[in-house]
Amino acid sequence: MGEPDCIFCKIVAGELPAMIVDEDERTIAFMDIAPATRGHALVIPRAHSTDLLDISEADLSAVALASRRLAARAKERLGADGVNLLNSCGRAAWQTVFHFHVHVVPRYESDPLRLPWVPSEGDQAQIASTAQELSGR
Ligand code: 5GP
Ligand code: ZN
Repeated sequence: MGEPDCIFCKIVAGELPAMIVDEDERTIAFMDIAPATRGHALVIPRAHSTDLLDISEADLSAVALASRRLAARAKERLGADGVNLLNSCGRAAWQTVFHFHVHVVPRYESDPLRLPWVPSEGDQAQIASTAQELSGR
């Protein structure tokens, strides 16, 4: 039983078609409908959770391992030169489907993807004060 309006729950239930490339007890992986590069796939938990902060530790671990499995396969079988794992948590972070997923994006030396920010030197005082706010020590 998934969330009624969740498209990824419908894929898990077999109610919506998807090109499934890997599965295990806790996860399935399928091709992204709008691939950023050749081989772009999504790994999701079978059980619905909305995002990184909602998913159980067991499902998160299983998705991480499945993502690594797929990343290795992309290098071996597709000739990828590298792989990005991407997770968006929340609308502000570009999440559009609210069932936790990791994008496995095979990267090729010649692909057109670019970093979405321009690295530049930060304000050291501001970094230090933010570090204090974030610190769990
Ligand atoms: P997000 O933007 O939430 O990080 O990623 C959602 C991803 O799901 C997008 O890359 C989008 O192309 C993909 N997607 C959305 N709807 C479907 C669908 O019905 N089937 C498949 N296979 N992928 C989908
Ligand atoms: Zn769902």
